Amino acid sequence: MKPETACIHAVRDESHSTGAVTVPIYQSATFAHPGVGHSTGYEYSRTQNPTREHVEKLLAALEGGVGASAYASGMAAVSTLMELFSPGDEIIVTDDLYGGSIRLFDHVSIKNGIIIRYVDTSNLSAIEAAMTGTTKAIFIETPTNPMMKVTDIAGVKALINKRDILLIVDNTFLTPYFFNPIALGADIVVHSGTKYLAGHNDTLAGFLVTKSAEIGERLHFLKNTIGGVLSPFDAFLVTRGIKTLAIRMEKAQKNAMAIAQWLKEQPKVTTVHYPGLPEHPAYELSRRQARGFGAMISFSTDSVETAQNILNKTELILFAESLGGVETLVTYPVTQTHAYVPEAERMKRGIDDKLLRLSVGIEAVEDIIGDLARAM
Ligand SMILES: *Cc1c(COP(=O)(O)O)cnc(C)c1O
Repeated sequence: MKPETACIHAVRDESHSTGAVTVPIYQSATFAHPGVGHSTGYEYSRTQNPTREHVEKLLAALEGGVGASAYASGMAAVSTLMELFSPGDEIIVTDDLYGGSIRLFDHVSIKNGIIIRYVDTSNLSAIEAAMTGTTKAIFIETPTNPMMKVTDIAGVKALINKRDILLIVDNTFLTPYFFNPIALGADIVVHSGTKYLAGHNDTLAGFLVTKSAEIGERLHFLKNTIGGVLSPFDAFLVTRGIKTLAIRMEKAQKNAMAIAQWLKEQPKVTTVHYPGLPEHPAYELSRRQARGFGAMISFSTDSVETAQNILNKTELILFAESLGGVETLVTYPVTQTHAYVPEAERMKRGIDDKLLRLSVGIEAVEDIIGDLARAM
């Protein structure tokens, strides 16, 4: 089954007899038992819920994993994931990371005795140099947020070789429609389902997809124990969103390509970071390991004034955090997504007051470009 077909048909709900084409919302906290020693397989919705299980199976099918667990948000997923680790464990983490993940690692994981080593994972030798006898995992985001650096997942897997190191990939930006890290050696795939999967800026969700059943079971145990689970209604919304994932990703990517090309020609734009541009350092790698480049672009302007004009004066494009919805959004990483990153670190990574991030939506591309042109 091709990915676009899988988004619609990979999982069928056969738990009921009505023939309903969409999965029902099982808005029930608890489930009754037929008798002592008998169970329907459902007890309590923190533990199992049929609507949530449906979207978990769908994510597992789309990513090529054996199972998945669904959480109330991407951050609930990542924090549950961190409970796999113990004090003294070292984790190598992509340095150009989603700001919320940095906040979690720097303020919570560190307190729990976990050692985080930030590395530019687009550079394989930097990963090799950071690996020690106590490295327990490598956590990669690719392309990165907001600088759009790309990590060679098969290359990282080769470095790990047979060592007992979990390879974890946050695949929020490309989605399983464009990229399947498990096929390249990843053990766990992370998603903020809030973004492209749900796709309409109307719900929060998170997922962990696993290659092995054993890690999947440990995560289900942690999910049930910690309790940050996805609600039945939000599970339904994500399932519905995924039905149109393919056409949304195709259209958003087509728009992003045109916008990146247009931005490159603008005198008030100094740099454009988009892996779909042939001059991007990871253009070839992206083509090799993924089926698409996604629809996230970051770019630098000639002055703070130009950057702020875009933020203040666009009418169609909304100045808002988040990404992956049908609406085009512009983000100011320096004050929004990356405000938690210490200033020196931000500057080192190029996240300054002239950098903007665009999450390109599915509007007519002429309208998006017209809006940017007017604002500039
Ligand atoms: C948004 C995001 C997260 C966090 O997800 P939430 O659903 O907002 O909690 C994690 N990783 C990436 C790459 C994200 O964009």
